[in-house]
Amino acid sequence: MKEIIFTKHQQEITSKIDPAAGKEQWTDWKWQTRHSIKTIEDFEYLTGISFSEEEKVQLNETRNRFPLSITPYYLSLINKENYKNDPVYKQSFLDNRELIVSSSEMGDPLSEDHDSPVPGITHRYPDRVLFLVSNVCAMYCRHCTRKRKVGDVDSIPGREQIKEGIDYIRNTPQVRDVLLSGGDPFLLSDDYLDWILTELEAIPHVQVIRIGTRTPVVLPYRITQDLVDMLKKHQPLWINTHFNHPREITASARKALARMADAGIPLGNQSVLLADVNDCPRIMKELVHRLVANRVRPYYLYQCDLSEGLSHFRTPVGKGIEIMESLIGHTSGFAVPTYVVDAPGGGGKIPVMPNYIISWSVNKVILRNYEGVITSYQEPDEYKSTLCDRNCKDCRLELNLKDGEEINAIGIEQLLSDYDDTISLIPADNERFKRRNDAEEAEDTESAENAENLELNETV
Ligand SMILES: *Cc1c(COP(=O)(O)O)cnc(C)c1O
Repeated sequence: MKEIIFTKHQQEITSKIDPAAGKEQWTDWKWQTRHSIKTIEDFEYLTGISFSEEEKVQLNETRNRFPLSITPYYLSLINKENYKNDPVYKQSFLDNRELIVSSSEMGDPLSEDHDSPVPGITHRYPDRVLFLVSNVCAMYCRHCTRKRKVGDVDSIPGREQIKEGIDYIRNTPQVRDVLLSGGDPFLLSDDYLDWILTELEAIPHVQVIRIGTRTPVVLPYRITQDLVDMLKKHQPLWINTHFNHPREITASARKALARMADAGIPLGNQSVLLADVNDCPRIMKELVHRLVANRVRPYYLYQCDLSEGLSHFRTPVGKGIEIMESLIGHTSGFAVPTYVVDAPGGGGKIPVMPNYIISWSVNKVILRNYEGVITSYQEPDEYKSTLCDRNCKDCRLELNLKDGEEINAIGIEQLLSDYDDTISLIPADNERFKRRNDAEEAEDTESAENAENLELNETV
């Protein structure tokens, strides 16, 4: 196995932190978290970058609102010659623009707290839940969508709360996929994580467990052989990490990824589209190429959320579409992530793509490809649509679905179905339909009153 890299620059930082420390300490993830950089003064001392007294007053104000924490490892990736344009610096160090809150921004833009049946669980989609098992992160990403919770001691989930979450999953048979997130689940100890995974695995309807972690990016030494050996016992387990820039895929990060891939753990990556960090088709293409070269499948590219303090990171949705246009068709299909906007107010992830369908008639679809070539696809002359009344037993297709596995269709799927009479979906606060309902209710009361009068008449 390749030796872990310990650069000269990293040696310098190590001895500044502790003159007695060396490679052994540097590559110990607990040493890294113990020595995370939390103050502006430590940042200045370790990087040699310095700020004016005036700048520091402002930066401290930002830090008081949104705390600072950078692992020595991630700090060592900052290019101090050009730090103002450095993607690592921008993702990890304070920016006074974090204090600007625009009117459209919210503390909890995804309404995660609203869709929460028990603390720590967000149950938004029919068959899967988000389970926040840790409130701790190795680094506080400046673009964190859960910025509201960062450093908030009150929301650290204890063992009791985790048990409550597990109970909810146990008592909710439609949950077949559990997504552990946080905070970073990999900041929990191996034993504690082992316990959570064992409990979840024992639930018969839980088919898949996923873990979202940024440690391969900001603390690759966390991916120890011991951790991986423990995770290996809990198949099927999927891991999603969070690389945003090709610069983050260092020798140490590659080693961490290789360890997990060698253990047979499928790896994915979720990136966030960030202004002045990765809002460039060439950077994104380089990132996805390096990811797949390291056996990581690009999963999602997120439009930056409307969380408070993120306005300087936001790009127009058009930038994301432009990036998707530069990827789809231009590179391997499995290197292309799905670009999603996580809808404010709890609408969930909505995929967004360039348009490839140009027009349509009853027998032809007109499509264009990534080069701009326009083609027509002839629809079949005869297509016998199978009417689906959900009676799989008598269907000519052999699905052999066990009873109870399917849940009722919702949303657009419901409109497309044969077995449901719903012909439209109407937003709950639609004015026109509210007016109709009010009118109908009034009519109902009127006829009820008439009926009462009638009764009175009769008794008289
Ligand atoms: C993202 C997310 C999931 C998982 O969504 P997938 O599209 O299956 O990856 C589940 N629950 C919540 C609340 C989420 O935000």
